[in-house]
Amino acid sequence: MAIDLHLHTHFSDGTFSPEELAGHAASHELRAVALTDHDTVEGCPRMAAACEKEGLEFVPGSELTAEWDGNELHLLAYYMDIEHTRLLRELARFQQVRKNRIREMAERLNKLGVGLEAKAVFELANCQSPGRPHVARALVKGGFCGSLDEAFERFLKWGKPAWVPKCKMSAAAAIALAHEAGGVVVMAHPGLNRTDSFIPALVESGLDGLECFHSKHSTSMSEHYLQMADRHGLLVTGGSDCHGNSKGRPLIGSIKVPYTHLERLRERWRSRRHAETSPAAAPGTAGH
Ligand code: AMP
Ligand code: ZN
Ligand code: FE
Ligand code: FE
Repeated sequence: MAIDLHLHTHFSDGTFSPEELAGHAASHELRAVALTDHDTVEGCPRMAAACEKEGLEFVPGSELTAEWDGNELHLLAYYMDIEHTRLLRELARFQQVRKNRIREMAERLNKLGVGLEAKAVFELANCQSPGRPHVARALVKGGFCGSLDEAFERFLKWGKPAWVPKCKMSAAAAIALAHEAGGVVVMAHPGLNRTDSFIPALVESGLDGLECFHSKHSTSMSEHYLQMADRHGLLVTGGSDCHGNSKGRPLIGSIKVPYTHLERLRERWRSRRHAETSPAAAPGTAGH
């Protein structure tokens, strides 16, 4: 039985609702899924309920936008307490910055004679974690662009006139925050970023695992990261990074990640929680 630990809904830039996503997961006969919307855990309660209905095991998660040495990287944080006060405060701060970024994009577009209002983007996004894909959709909906590609090519891509940089947490701070909220942290799609050279330092900062299996990883890339995970004693995870219909066809079900990797991830989470909550646990005996 397979798992998919990297999925998005309309609570960030995916198109599926949690209920639709759980339905697709069940039809692909997945045993367990994680929800990893960008910089938010807003969709987790609904996804948990939807998974329960479908008889699927659910792992709460979020894909945190982070940076190391000026390079963007994505960290998948699993099993965080989604009501953790500092986590929610930090996510809210980031979501506010995302909204301000969209206001700035709209201002830039307005200066170019494109009459898109930030309000239209927020209404369309209808979530706490809006991003460029929502601006692109609003540009198409408003008749300013013929397609999402055109919106990115003309306005939103790096170097184009409405591009605005994104605020990122330092990777070390993101790892510390996720750990504080009880989470286990995995570097997302390492093969898509040039981040290999940072991995040892991130391991020092507490990184727990690598997403070795990803729909855009070649077989040799997966092999490479499996070896790297082995070398650094890291957990292995995998997921499709399905965004519903927003990036071509839905990717859920396109890769088969064995369930055993989730067992190890869960074990790490439980042993750490046990170590933290057990006053009798002496150093070095954590989880035993
Ligand atoms: P943001 O996090 O707000 O900067 O938006 C990043 C999202 O925009 C990612 O999900 C990308 O896949 C998507 N994206 C970036 N470039 C393009 C493009 N040329 N066409 C469609 N989507 C894109
Ligand atoms: Zn995304
Ligand atoms: Fe990502
Ligand atoms: Fe993703």
